[in-house]
Amino acid sequence: MSINALLDEFKIKAASPKKQLAEYKAQGKKVIGVLPYYAPEELVYAAGMVPMGIWGSNTKSISRAKEYCATFYCTIAQLALEMLLDGTMDGLDGIITPTICDTLRPMSQNFRVSMGEKMAVIFLAHPQNRFEDFGLQFCIDQYTHVKKELEKVAGKEMTDEAIQDAIKVYNKARAARRTFVKLANEHCDVITPVKRSAVLKAFYFMEKPEYIEKLNELNEELSKLPACDWKGTKVVTSGIICDNPKLLEIFEENSIAIAADDVAHESRSFRTDAPEDEKDPMMALAKQFANIDYDVLLYDQASSKNRRGEFVADMVKESGAQGLVLFMQQFCDPEEMEYPYLKKALEEKNIPHIKLGIDQQMRDFGQAQTAIQAFADVLEMSK
Ligand code: SF4
Repeated sequence: MSINALLDEFKIKAASPKKQLAEYKAQGKKVIGVLPYYAPEELVYAAGMVPMGIWGSNTKSISRAKEYCATFYCTIAQLALEMLLDGTMDGLDGIITPTICDTLRPMSQNFRVSMGEKMAVIFLAHPQNRFEDFGLQFCIDQYTHVKKELEKVAGKEMTDEAIQDAIKVYNKARAARRTFVKLANEHCDVITPVKRSAVLKAFYFMEKPEYIEKLNELNEELSKLPACDWKGTKVVTSGIICDNPKLLEIFEENSIAIAADDVAHESRSFRTDAPEDEKDPMMALAKQFANIDYDVLLYDQASSKNRRGEFVADMVKESGAQGLVLFMQQFCDPEEMEYPYLKKALEEKNIPHIKLGIDQQMRDFGQAQTAIQAFADVLEMSK
């Protein structure tokens, strides 16, 4: 397949979770919705079911979810519920509701109350202290609860071999995406911000073997191209999610390419593999979670050293970007609290940045356009 044909396919898949879900159901498959963050999707795969990510929507408005949510909940959480209430995700056999932040904790109960009769609602709590033996054990206990609930939905037990196999598949999917984001930097004339986002977003809705096959094919085709001589500027993006094509088009209009990202929906979700040499696959999954580092949402034992801020600042330098764009989700406490540390690390290394307040109900891009245009000039001067 040509690069353009592959990119078109990812674009279609990224834009149509409802259609994808209907296709899986027509094939007689069971489908589990997976809310952010860090759910062990491998268990869904090992149970022979299809996991589908639910990270809200850029095209919907909050209406029915208002009945359940406080107005100060972020739009990701509210629109995830909206998609369940308005029928977009009808047909799901269950959902996994992680609870890592102060919004997702109460939201897990809203999902249970609103959806509990229609589908399995599987609660998941991660340990705060994930490195110690007791943290790993807590994680295993929680994942075992998820496993048992998934087995009830699937109507069969999961074997250790099936989980080991799922770990290998997911590690391959992570590796393919890590390769892709590097190639996207080298070929930013072909992989524009909108296309980059669609390729990464399609992961959440596609069956993983198919996604891996298509992405490896795309990576192979990209690696045959000569590295592009980019005349514009480059940034690193940071934040929870930035999958809004209209917002990303503004980058393209200003010749700003994405060199790398520190986005939860993108690279933060595939930086860390699960160990494949661990005898107990549940321990392997717990270690995968424990080994995630430099993440806003996770406890850092050495946080006083601002390791994360420095990690992101180094990413800007090493990727060849001139600056950083932070997509700040409205009402996201963890990201807001982290920002001063990120700002400090960027300023110490003389890296220009802007903070764009966004949410998934954003329909007017005038302010963002002005800010990005002005930032493009700053970046041009620092080249
Ligand atoms: S955007 Fe922030 S507040 Fe909302 S679910 Fe994610 S971490 Fe929690």
